Amino acid sequence: MARYRAEGLWQGRSLPVELMAAARAHGERTALITPEVHWTYAELSATAARFAAGLLARTRLRPGDAVMFQMGNVAETVVAYLGCLLAGIRPVCTLPQHGTREIAVLARHIGARGLVLQADFGRGQLPDQARTLLADGAVEEAVVVRGEVFGTAVGYDDLLSAGATADPAALPYHALPPEGVAVFQLSGGTTGLPKIAPRQHEEYAYNGALWARTLGWGEGTVVLYPLPIMHNAGVSLALQPALLSGATLVLAPSADTGTLLDLIERTRPQVLPLVPPALAIRLLEEPRSHRTDLSCLTDFVVGGQKLALEVAERLRDELGIAVRQKFGMAEGMFLLTPPGATEWLRHHTVGAPLSPLDEIRILRPGGDEEVPDGEIGELCVRGPYTIRGYYRAERHNASAFTPDGFYRTGDLARRHRRDGVVAYSIDGRIKDVINRGVEKIHADEVEDLVMRHPDVANVALVAMPDPVLGERACAYLVMEPGRRPLTVATLGAFLLGEGLAKYKLPERVESVESLPLSNVGKVSKKDLRQDIEAKLTAETA
Ligand code: AMP
Repeated sequence: MARYRAEGLWQGRSLPVELMAAARAHGERTALITPEVHWTYAELSATAARFAAGLLARTRLRPGDAVMFQMGNVAETVVAYLGCLLAGIRPVCTLPQHGTREIAVLARHIGARGLVLQADFGRGQLPDQARTLLADGAVEEAVVVRGEVFGTAVGYDDLLSAGATADPAALPYHALPPEGVAVFQLSGGTTGLPKIAPRQHEEYAYNGALWARTLGWGEGTVVLYPLPIMHNAGVSLALQPALLSGATLVLAPSADTGTLLDLIERTRPQVLPLVPPALAIRLLEEPRSHRTDLSCLTDFVVGGQKLALEVAERLRDELGIAVRQKFGMAEGMFLLTPPGATEWLRHHTVGAPLSPLDEIRILRPGGDEEVPDGEIGELCVRGPYTIRGYYRAERHNASAFTPDGFYRTGDLARRHRRDGVVAYSIDGRIKDVINRGVEKIHADEVEDLVMRHPDVANVALVAMPDPVLGERACAYLVMEPGRRPLTVATLGAFLLGEGLAKYKLPERVESVESLPLSNVGKVSKKDLRQDIEAKLTAETA
């Protein structure tokens, strides 16, 4: 930390202090566009300050408290996020898709007291969830930031009017320690020990400013973001870098291609800072993309999942798009195709880390020695915006980080020296995670819940290849003797009842007599992945 400060990377100021300084500097520029709003920096920051003051006046939440977020891509989410920061309250970046059990587990682990929700999200299920969470004592305060207010919850308009006369100079953010936790991001699942990435003020602000600088953002830059804005990727590739650099953030309410093309036509963004391969494929398949003028898009950054060479080439040939790639994670480190990189580097690697003080080691899996360039090993990372440990997870941290603080990502990678550049490719993973169109499904979380089913004797969840989403989850089930096999529907209904988010549900079920074992006696997921791959190939032949 001392080095990051001494070299001027960390500025010794809290994240909201940096954001408010940028808001003052860019006052009349457009900060935020959604299909509903068009706000300047002055409007957005003033609304966020009212929200902050209202939060402290109308609720029992106090600086230092954490609040769970269940908000979609709407302007109020940005207000609530900034407002919490200004009030010294820490957002926990959960998603509106998370179920009651997931929110409760995470809230208890962090000690969060509040819940910020969008009552009109999806099918309108969040108020019911919030009631349960309040009744169970998982949270004490609910704030409805959009949609109809219920029961004891406090509403957005109420907060804004309560905060209308407050003096922004008196808000708690002026006194926050820069090394303190600003925001909690999520990493792992929610059975077993939750893996929460505590993002500190200085490093998170640096992360955003660095991303903006690396991509050359500033006055006139328009950034379009179509994925969940509260994900770490949304916060640190779009929201924070845009608002720290004076750019305009265009928030798409969904990643639906029609919505996206509408917003591209209307706002002419130069940057899509994160396009998952699944979305790139949907854009290629959408006839309207081929008629839309996409020439404004100078930075089309694909990431979150392995990009197939064929997709990169089709984007080039059919839409005239020269992709850049990005690799990143809630724990911090980002890699990005450097500017001016050759096509080989753009198509075959995820580029290089952003910061001169980022460090990468490719270690022999399970060991501590580095592998030679070009050889596959585990990607291990350390740097000025990478966490040093998960929150309240001492024992887990001892194995998740090397003794000298490198985070073992669980991803497999190679270092390439080519065209005068050092760049990295991602070549698989050793962690037991399914990457479904960039949403991560932690196998152990789903398996633990499946095992609660009285008819199930054993289960293994594995990734099955999917041409669009990259991977989907397939559950191999061993049933108790005499029990009827579960189907996708019956297993899904059971898991939803256990509070699992819908996107994590297995999309195929295979009933087997027993699970194959490796030579050390563990379930061989490799064999299961090969089995499901062979079945899918046979079925499509
Ligand atoms: P998250 O913390 O949800 O952002 O997930 C981070 C994980 O996503 C990484 O550890 C990788 O497993 C995966 N990931 C992110 N970007 C890429 C990429 N460009 N290629 C392959 N995997 C990626």
